[in-house]
Amino acid sequence: MPTHQVVVVGAGFAGLVAARELQTAGIEVEIYEARDRIGGRAWTQERMGHLLELGATWVHWMQPFIWTEITRYGQGIYPSPDSDRAYWITGGEVHEGTEAELDAILSRPQGKIFEDSREFFPNPHEPLRVLDQDYDGPADLPRRFRAADRGGVLDVLRHGEYSQEEIDLCDAYWSAGYNGYTATGSPLMAKHWASLSDHRLSLLDEQTLRFKLTNGMKGIYEAIAADLICPIHLDTPVRKVGHGGDGVRLTLDGGETVEADAVIVTAPIGALRQIEFSPGLSEACRTVVDQGLNCTGFKIWIKIRGHHSLIAYAPTGNPIALIRSEYFLDDDTTILVGFGPDHTRIDLQDSEAVQEVIRRWRPDLTVLDCDGHDWVADRWSGQTWATPRSGQFTDGWHHFRETGTRLHFAGADIAKGWNGVVVDGAIETGITAARRVLAELRD
Ligand SMILES: Cc1cc2nc3c(=O)[nH]c(=O)nc-3n(C[C@H](O)[C@H](O)[C@H](O)COP(=O)(O)OP(=O)(O)OC[C@H]3O[C@@H](n4cnc5c(N)ncnc54)[C@H](O)[C@@H]3O)c2cc1C
Repeated sequence: MPTHQVVVVGAGFAGLVAARELQTAGIEVEIYEARDRIGGRAWTQERMGHLLELGATWVHWMQPFIWTEITRYGQGIYPSPDSDRAYWITGGEVHEGTEAELDAILSRPQGKIFEDSREFFPNPHEPLRVLDQDYDGPADLPRRFRAADRGGVLDVLRHGEYSQEEIDLCDAYWSAGYNGYTATGSPLMAKHWASLSDHRLSLLDEQTLRFKLTNGMKGIYEAIAADLICPIHLDTPVRKVGHGGDGVRLTLDGGETVEADAVIVTAPIGALRQIEFSPGLSEACRTVVDQGLNCTGFKIWIKIRGHHSLIAYAPTGNPIALIRSEYFLDDDTTILVGFGPDHTRIDLQDSEAVQEVIRRWRPDLTVLDCDGHDWVADRWSGQTWATPRSGQFTDGWHHFRETGTRLHFAGADIAKGWNGVVVDGAIETGITAARRVLAELRD
């Protein structure tokens, strides 16, 4: 094959892996990255005296693509700690118990939220399989599947069978999980997560919140970058992508243009409005970009005085939905990790405001410091981990998988397996987009 040039937009996991795949096949690659660093929504940095993950943290061996990278680069994992005490707010009151008691209350309503996950996702890595013409399922399955994409994730609990406590606990759990409001999050996403976790809540919890990387996410994204011989141009946003049947032309921030045989754009859906496409994106894609996804929330790190082993939940209305003790430091402090549905409801650096919220669970705790990155306000992400709004599971991410030109999209947001949510999906699409480009160039 004669030498071809391919441009990759973005140096997050999808972009780095796509570049590695292309480079291995002998393609000339260049990466253009808007920020002054690689990693994208994975960002390991020292904050508050500890190495923290401002974006992605947890990984699992049931996530095949990230596990391959962990193995490839000889990285290790270790578990997050269990919590001694659990606190949950329901009906305006704080309840206290063990984590096992909290999990026991969650289990029945979560079973309802997961209902039909086996039937809807016979192969979780082909999440829209039951909509295929050739899928041999019950005649009404496509209709039921599409109906489950509507409304909010807690709607199935609101018919009198479930207590306010059960609903409030699920609300807190999924406000963190969707990293957005539960009322607008597509119920299909929760069922898809269940199918990726053998339909078991315990395995889902283990996959999403249990094992961290010994060297952090940085240990992997820096190792992939070290394998690349191609240039990674930092601080170089791509402003315009012209694309046709046999090539692409990119315009960079300063007006400079770059021509190539193909481009793989890995910018998150929330950042695509920063790029002008010519010809423009399909109407279906534009609609998704204009609507935005459901992930309007945040992740926060909070340092408190003393060693406290706890987990706490609060439903919509409380700025923080979930906190959990993550690190116990030698200077007799604890670092908690927290999640909430709306980044406008809290200033991630405002210790006094965070103290106010923490007091609702435990008036005796003293907040010393807090930190985080506002990914929704950041124009190079515009969102946190991608979670679909009502209707977007069946009418959203998959529109970006085929453009008919030499423009290709990749990124966790459009992954088939762990769609949107984890690094695993970013790696999946980095590989598959690069393989599509290679096949195209070989034709
Ligand atoms: C707070 C938070 C917590 C998370 N927790 C976890 C977790 O525990 N486990 C897990 O596996 N995953 C987690 N995730 C999800 C995970 O971080 C993402 O799925 C994954 O990192 C996405 O990789 P990506 O390459 O698809 O996109 P990104 O990492 O967003 O990379 C895209 C890159 O494109 C660049 N870019 C954007 N626009 C342009 C432009 N116009 N020109 C040039 N470059 C551009 C961006 O700067 C970025 O570097 C979390 C995410 C967040 C935000």
